[in-house]
Amino acid sequence: MAKLIVGNWKMFGLGASLSEIEGVADAVPDGVEMAICPPFTLIERAARAAAGSALRIGAQSLHAAADGAHTGDISAAMLRDAGATLVIVGHSERRADHDETDAQVRESTVAAIAAGLDAIVCVGETEAQRDAGEADTVVAAQLAGSLPDTADRLTIAYEPVWAIGTGRTPTVEDVASMHAGIRAALVARFGDAGAKVRILYGGSVKPANAAELLAVANVDGALVGGASLTADSLLAIAGAV
Ligand code: 13P
Repeated sequence: MAKLIVGNWKMFGLGASLSEIEGVADAVPDGVEMAICPPFTLIERAARAAAGSALRIGAQSLHAAADGAHTGDISAAMLRDAGATLVIVGHSERRADHDETDAQVRESTVAAIAAGLDAIVCVGETEAQRDAGEADTVVAAQLAGSLPDTADRLTIAYEPVWAIGTGRTPTVEDVASMHAGIRAALVARFGDAGAKVRILYGGSVKPANAAELLAVANVDGALVGGASLTADSLLAIAGAV
C-alpha cells in the first residue's frame, strides 16, 4: 500500500499558509499519498487551494453528534461540507487538553466514518508509562477502547507523547515492536482487513529521520507536526518514502 504522509498543523498557520498548501499540492510525489490538516478556519480555503491535486485536506478533531447544542464543536458533516476528506481523532493533545476518553474517540471515529471521512485514530504512551514498561499495554487498551467495529476508512497513528515536539524519537527497534503489536491487534480485531489498515508513526518526524522511520516494517506513513508547516519540509519527508 502507498505510504500516507499527513501534516497536522495543530493551532498554527494563521496568515501565510495557503502558499504552503499550494506548494505541496503542486508536488505530491508519485506513489505517495499526502494530506494536510489545518485549523478549522483554514479548511475551506485549503481545500480550494488543493482542488484538482492529489493533496487531501483534513481536520484535527470532530464531535460525534450530527448536530446539537455543542458550543464550540464541529460535526463530521460540517467538515465534509468545508472540503475535508479525513480527520484526526483522539490526538494526545485532545486527550490531554479536552479530556477526550477512549469512548469519545470511538464515538467520534464512528461518526466520521459514517459521514464518509477517513479517520486517523491516535494512540501512544506517555514517558512515565514507557519508563514503567507499560507502553504496550497502554496502547493496547487505547486501541481496544477507541476503535470502531469495522476497518473501513480507518488509519491508526502511533504517537508516543514524549516524542511529540521534543526532537526525540523511539529507536527503530521500539517503533518496529510497537507497530507489530498494533498490527497484531488490528488483525485480531478485523481479520484480513486489519492487515490493510495503515499504521502511521508520529512524533518528531523530520526530513533528517524520515527515511529511517518510514523504512520500518508496519510503518505505513507519518503524522507530522512541526515539520509539516512548510511545503519544503513536508515534501522532503514525502520524498524520503
Ligand atoms: P511533531 O512532529 O511536531 O513532533 O508533532 C507530532 C504530532 O503530534 C503530529 O500529530
